Amino acid sequence: MTDPQPTVLYEQVGRVAVITMHRPEFRNAQNAVMTYALDDAFTRAVTDDSVGAIVLRGEGKHFSAGHDIGTPGRDIHESFERRATTWWDHADKPGGENMFVREQELYLGMCRRWRELPKPTIAQVHGACIAGALMLAWSCDLIVASDDAFFSDPVVRMGIPGVEYFAHPYVMPPRWAKEFLYLGERWPAQRALDAGMINRVVPRDDLADAVMAMAEKIAAMPRMGLALTKKAINQAEDRMGMRDTMDSTFALHHFAHAHNALSSDDHLQGQDAKSMAAAYKKKSES
Ligand code: ZN
Repeated sequence: MTDPQPTVLYEQVGRVAVITMHRPEFRNAQNAVMTYALDDAFTRAVTDDSVGAIVLRGEGKHFSAGHDIGTPGRDIHESFERRATTWWDHADKPGGENMFVREQELYLGMCRRWRELPKPTIAQVHGACIAGALMLAWSCDLIVASDDAFFSDPVVRMGIPGVEYFAHPYVMPPRWAKEFLYLGERWPAQRALDAGMINRVVPRDDLADAVMAMAEKIAAMPRMGLALTKKAINQAEDRMGMRDTMDSTFALHHFAHAHNALSSDDHLQGQDAKSMAAAYKKKSES
């Protein structure tokens, strides 16, 4: 553990549970420790009958910069328990098995698990929502962003066809999804709203209040009515092919990791947080 404080905070305001990613010094980069702390917090909110709705937010300047690919707390080769899948420990396994098992549990499995929480969830997004952070926001039912928020999935630069939870062509029209991925640009909140990826954009200073008002309104609705409505719409998305698309794209994603490992220094084509930021800066200056 390299983080001096808890990576996730939990508080309850009325009937609303507020779950906060708390690695502000690392732009809330998501490592395995944070993933399981998030899962603990979601489980607590679901099992507590006094909670009617759940808000997910980030402490500090940003919602989240995505998966931890460069902080001192990066725990890519460490063991962790399995909660979303029944796979074995990845840490001591060779080749593609290591990454496949790890990401099946930590990314695809966990995000699917959170998408299926039987209580309504709202992502409260400000600042950066990049790559792995999209998966957290997309797993939530509603997304409310401040006008300073931006969204990006730049992983095609690593030779990878999008983040592991491949909801792209379902959370926005397919042609927009291609542009989003091919260019890897940062979309301001308004563009994400135009694409249908998010529900509302509000001024930065109003974000917390706007989300809380929405959450309180939802939390006043009947618990089973909400749970059944959520299931109905999630089932509709799955019948539109989202679940199958994610499974087949996960295979392409892992071919990409394997190809990178065979043809370059590592599974991310030698890219890390610093080089990705530098590439972005270079592109915006050109
Ligand atoms: Zn991956």
